[in-house]
Amino acid sequence: MSSPAADPPVGNHPASPPSGAVRKPADIDLLRIDDQLTSDERLVRDTVRDFTADRIQPHIADWFETGTIPGDLMPELGKLGVLGMHLTGYGCAGMGAVAYGVACRELEAADSGLRSMVSVQGSLAMFPIWKYGSGEQKTQWLPPMAAGEAVGCFGLTEPDHGSDPAGMSTRARRDGSDWLLSGTKMWITNGSIADIAVVWASTDEGVRGFLVPRGEPGFTTSDIHKKLALRASITSELHFDEVRLPADAVLPGVTGLKGPLSCLGEARFGIIWGATGAARACYECAVEYARTREQFGRPIGGFQLTQSKLAWMASDLVRAQLLALHLGRLKEAGPLRPDQVSLGKMTCVRTAIDIARQARTILGANGITLEYPVIRHANNLEAVLTYEGTQEIHELTIGEAITGLAAYR
Ligand SMILES: Cc1cc2nc3c(=O)[nH]c(=O)nc-3n(C[C@H](O)[C@H](O)[C@H](O)COP(=O)(O)OP(=O)(O)OC[C@H]3O[C@@H](n4cnc5c(N)ncnc54)[C@H](O)[C@@H]3O)c2cc1C
Repeated sequence: MSSPAADPPVGNHPASPPSGAVRKPADIDLLRIDDQLTSDERLVRDTVRDFTADRIQPHIADWFETGTIPGDLMPELGKLGVLGMHLTGYGCAGMGAVAYGVACRELEAADSGLRSMVSVQGSLAMFPIWKYGSGEQKTQWLPPMAAGEAVGCFGLTEPDHGSDPAGMSTRARRDGSDWLLSGTKMWITNGSIADIAVVWASTDEGVRGFLVPRGEPGFTTSDIHKKLALRASITSELHFDEVRLPADAVLPGVTGLKGPLSCLGEARFGIIWGATGAARACYECAVEYARTREQFGRPIGGFQLTQSKLAWMASDLVRAQLLALHLGRLKEAGPLRPDQVSLGKMTCVRTAIDIARQARTILGANGITLEYPVIRHANNLEAVLTYEGTQEIHELTIGEAITGLAAYR
C-alpha cells in the first residue's frame, strides 16, 4: 500500500503541486461552490468584488479606526445597482435571491458595516415601502432610494424594548386626520443621515409603520459613539416629540408586528450570505499568513496544529456557504419560513465568528491590528450576532418550530 503522500490526486482537484511547493490561492476554495451560480450571479459577484477592491478595501481600516463611513458611498452603491436589487420596478434591479445574497456576501467580505448600509437601505427601508406603501409613497421614495440619492433607516428597537418589540413605547395617536408621533428609537443604522425614517409605533389599531422625513418639527437624531463593532457604520437614536404627520404618512398595507418582522426576514437573509463573506475573508487571510509566516525555521502552515485549524475553518466555511446557497434557492422557489431564516442567520453568523476568532490566533499578534482584516471582522460579527434577532431569539424560533412550544416568556 502506498503512503498517503504518494496517493494520486482525486476528484476534481488540480494535480498536486510538487513536494514542498505551495498551491495557488484559488485552490483554497476547496468545493468551488460558486460553480453552482448562474452567469448573471457570477457577474454580480465580480462586479461587487471589483467595486470593493477599488473603493472600499484601500480605506476600510481607516474608516473603522476613525468610526466613519462616507455618506457619498450611497450614490455609488446606487450606481452599482445593489440598493433594493431584489425588488422589482421603481428603478430596482429585480434580481433573484441568490444574486442579492452574493452581493451581500461580497460587500461583507469587505466589511459588515458596508453590507449593513446596503441591507438597511434595501431590505429594511425600501422593502416596507415597496410591499406595504401606497402608490404615491412608492413613486416618491423608491426611485431616489434605489439610486442612493435618498437614504432610509428602520426604527423598531427602543432603549427598553429590543428582543421584545411588542412592548414598544413609541406611540402614534390620531389628531383629526393627522397623527402625532412620540417616542425614542435606539441603535438605528444610518439614522442621522437618513432622509426618510420608517418608524414602527403602537397605535389604537396595533403596530403601524410611518414614513417620517428628516427635518420634521420635533424629530431629532443623535449618534451613538464608542462602539467597538461596526465602527464603519452610523448608529443613531431617533427622538420623536409630538411629531405631526399627515394621514398619508402611514404605510397603508400592514397593521401589526408582522410588518416589521417581514422586513427583518428580508434583511436576515442578506446577513446569512454576508456572514459567509466575512468568514471567507478571514479564512483567506489566515491561509495566506500561514503560508508565509515562518517560526522555528518553517512556515507556520506546515505545523499540524495550524493545518488542523485551517481544515476546520475550511469545513465550517463550506457548510455555511452551502446553507446560504440552499436557502437562496429555496427563497427563489417561494417565501422562506421564519424558522428557516433563523436557522441560516444563527448558523452562518456563529460559524463566521468561530472562523474569525480561529483566524485571529493564526495571525498571532498581527491578529489584533487593523493592518489585517481579521480583528475588524471578528468585532463586527459580534454586533451582527446581536442585531436582527440575537442568537438566543433565533434559537427560540427554531426551538418553537421543532417542538411546537413557544419559550419566549
Ligand atoms: C450596530 C447595531 C445596529 C443596529 N441597527 C438597528 C436598526 O437599524 N434598526 C433597529 O430597529 N434596530 C437596530 N439594532 C438593534 C438590534 O436589533 C437589537 O440590539 C437587538 O434586537 C437586541 O436587542 P437589545 O440590544 O435590546 O438586547 P435585549 O433584547 O435586551 O437582549 C439582551 C440579552 O437577553 C437575551 N434575551 C432577550 N429575551 C430573551 C428570551 N426570551 N430568552 C432568552 N434570552 C433572551 C438576548 O438574546 C440577549 O442575549 C442595531 C443594533 C446594533 C448593535
